[in-house]
Amino acid sequence: MIEYSTKAVVLKRVPKGDFDEVITLYTKDMGKISARAKGIRKITSKLSGHLQVGSLVTARLLRKTDIQLIDAFSHRSGLTGPLHRFLLFIEAMTHHDAPDLHFWYGVEYAVENSVFVSGPQELRNRVYRRFLDILGFGSKFAKCGNCGDGKIAYFLPSDIMFLCSNSMKKVASESHEVVEI
Ligand SMILES: [Zn+2]
Repeated sequence: MIEYSTKAVVLKRVPKGDFDEVITLYTKDMGKISARAKGIRKITSKLSGHLQVGSLVTARLLRKTDIQLIDAFSHRSGLTGPLHRFLLFIEAMTHHDAPDLHFWYGVEYAVENSVFVSGPQELRNRVYRRFLDILGFGSKFAKCGNCGDGKIAYFLPSDIMFLCSNSMKKVASESHEVVEI
């Protein structure tokens, strides 16, 4: 039984049983993990408010056969459409238990500086390109996965594919996961 304290961003919450939830976090020390928060849906729980999706938190975790989330303190919260899209991007592009400090510092910067809450589109696009670089999907010489055009403007995490504006309209019109780069 090992106890950890780590900074993390809350990606997703899913109800489990009557009172629990499984919370997916992107953590500094362990990468993406799913942890069970016991009793978080009880009215007396103080934990829930600190674990809003999109929040930057310090989490205390207990690793046994599974991982339990025993406490959390929120440093920053507030969710917007673009931030939600960014969380989906993190979830799609990372594996469980694969820490990546470089990637973490990028995530922390983006959340701490509200890049996806109030930052201009241009900055958001630069941040996405940077993340793709870190993950080994350099956008510099990438071509559209649909027509081969070099003027890429979007990335589709589900297909690990870059798209130009024209192809974006044809291929992935309203996919929730598409990010503008
Ligand atoms: Zn294209």
